[in-house]
Amino acid sequence: MELENKAESLILEAQKALAAKYYAEAYRLFQEALGIYKQLNQPEKAGQYRQEAEKIKKETASFAPLPAIDYHAHPFFVSEIKKNPSLYMAARHFRLKMEGVPQNIDDLIKHMDEANIEKAVIMSLDTSASDHWAFKVKAQTNDDIAHMVQQYPDRLIGYGSVDPRRPDAVEEVERCVKELKFKGLKFHPAAIGVFPNDEKYFYPIYEKCVELGVPVQSHTGTTGLYFTKIKHTMPIYYDDVAVDFPTLKLVLLHFGIGGWQDQAMSLVFRHPNVYLDLSGASPRIIPRDIIQAANTPFYQNKIIFGTDYPFVGMAQWFSTFNKIMPDVWTEETKKKVFRENALNLHVNPPFSAFEVLKSEGMEVPPNVKR
Ligand SMILES: [Zn+2]
Repeated sequence: MELENKAESLILEAQKALAAKYYAEAYRLFQEALGIYKQLNQPEKAGQYRQEAEKIKKETASFAPLPAIDYHAHPFFVSEIKKNPSLYMAARHFRLKMEGVPQNIDDLIKHMDEANIEKAVIMSLDTSASDHWAFKVKAQTNDDIAHMVQQYPDRLIGYGSVDPRRPDAVEEVERCVKELKFKGLKFHPAAIGVFPNDEKYFYPIYEKCVELGVPVQSHTGTTGLYFTKIKHTMPIYYDDVAVDFPTLKLVLLHFGIGGWQDQAMSLVFRHPNVYLDLSGASPRIIPRDIIQAANTPFYQNKIIFGTDYPFVGMAQWFSTFNKIMPDVWTEETKKKVFRENALNLHVNPPFSAFEVLKSEGMEVPPNVKR
């Protein structure tokens, strides 16, 4: 009787998980319940829930195991890619098939639905102060992004993109957060040819982001963007930023992809305020060290899922993940990497070593910045 009750409550929990789109959990709970029915010698019920479990597995083969947050998705439409020489070369480099590229924002939402992605962080790529011909094209503006977010406020999270060489760069950062209600800023140091630790162009912006309490995501590693130099996106340069802005939440996009993941990992390891995201790579090519590290307390709260859509497709990402590593991450790691770490970036106050020291009764000079 007791076992029967247990099985029944497992089924109830499984149905709840299913309704909330926590598919991996629902599958596991159905499996556990059917095990009990087998033990109780009730083959009919066992068969019924085996079917239920198998149906979930089949129908969600390209879905995130739980409602995911894609921390890095570009609303680059076909029209956008075709008019931008650098982006066009990137699309070629990624062997991007144009049928996977959205025509409009509704397509992006559809692609999210097809992968159980609840929310996506979207942003433009502002290179408006560039003197390189390929980057002088008129790209999507922050206002365009804000307009997309207004259409799907529950599904999209806007980040601002500001070319730090713009004379009004700091004001634009402030406008992005205060007026356009963006939740963070995105930078691509290679696209603008400025090092991320550049004190003239970047530091006033970081200072403003600290003041506004918003995270910064910035490109690291190699890039498909043509006409750029990737010395600007070596992760090691962000070490200066993390040290000089200990209360700035800094996300190293693409984990230093292309061979610099060790640098990215060592920054995440040593700085409480540095995170990395997995975007720009299929699970097949994300380095095993990063995959393994995500299960450890040093990294578990600091690794964030992202795709780099449309260069990496959302459903493709999860169909590969479900095939090659469905059980590599613990349930807790999956919850954190696919969802909670990204959400926490926007709700928790910026981490400060000063606050920790003060709470331990240690002395910290007043108004200290670094
Ligand atoms: Zn990107």
